[in-house]
Amino acid sequence: MRVGFIGLGNMGAPMATNLVKAGHEVTGFDVAGVQIDGVRSATSAAEAARDQDVVITMLPSGSILQSVYGEIVPAARKGACLIDCSTVDVESARAAHAAAEAAGLLSVDAPVSGGVGGAAAGTLTFMAGGTDEAFAVAQPLFEIMGKKAVHCGAAGAGQAAKICNNMILGISMIGVCEAFVLADKLGLSRQSVFDVVSTSSGSCWSMNTYCPAPGIGPQSPADNDYRPGFAAELMLKDLKLSQAAAEGVDAATPMGERATELYEAFVAGGGKGRDFSAMIEALASQSRR
Ligand code: NAD
Repeated sequence: MRVGFIGLGNMGAPMATNLVKAGHEVTGFDVAGVQIDGVRSATSAAEAARDQDVVITMLPSGSILQSVYGEIVPAARKGACLIDCSTVDVESARAAHAAAEAAGLLSVDAPVSGGVGGAAAGTLTFMAGGTDEAFAVAQPLFEIMGKKAVHCGAAGAGQAAKICNNMILGISMIGVCEAFVLADKLGLSRQSVFDVVSTSSGSCWSMNTYCPAPGIGPQSPADNDYRPGFAAELMLKDLKLSQAAAEGVDAATPMGERATELYEAFVAGGGKGRDFSAMIEALASQSRR
């Protein structure tokens, strides 16, 4: 396929590279002037979108997405499929779909899970929203850039699934960190906590796969001085998106709200640029009263 790729950052660059390796003809654009081996460089988003079968975006925010769609929707050829893989608010995702549909284009919102490592290895999970027709066009590309793609429903459903997942992740990571801090103060070894919880009803991804305590469980950012991984400010971004969505539909998410406050304080207090699991150090340094 002929693919335009806009937003060649930490995630977009390796995703575009995997498409090139699979034999697709990729034209890329990034405002930062990023150049990638095998990717033809365009001088604007509109140029990257012109005459492509598919245009993929991987951008930082919903407002940037909407401004980029303002350029690429008029430039894309009729029938082309726009795939947005950024993590953005559900409203921006739906606005992007509406703009594409009005211009006779197919569109999919398809945020990812799996991080920079998954992007490089081609093992991302895509959660997609849009029509069956649009999903069918995008699916072969998802199979190259990832290992699993779930069609979650209509426009915006991918973003909705993503923020639900990451709200659970933010809450569960704090829960696991709190358990280690409590166990430390009760004189329980961290290894015992892991051995019991990872095979008991408290088991979860944050404990079993991404343990925030160094030297315990499988390798994780805790074993690398909390270098991300998944940076705390990105977790905060996703938690804020979950709370904006909850606000919009009047959903009660008290734990999501508290997790957002805790990550906000953590990021402001020196956590920026550190993995989100470093929350354990922040909690360990506090006292109850
Ligand atoms: P990044 O900041 O590394 O990359 C974003 C890129 O977009 C940058 O290179 C920037 O120059 C470019 N850009 C900004 N405005 C632009 C414009 N108007 N036109 C063209 N390019 C523009 O971010 P990232 O880590 O690659 O994340 C991208 C998206 O993926 C975000 O929405 C993020 O939430 C999501 N995400 C990231 C991770 C992760 O672990 N990094 C995991 C899952 C999802």
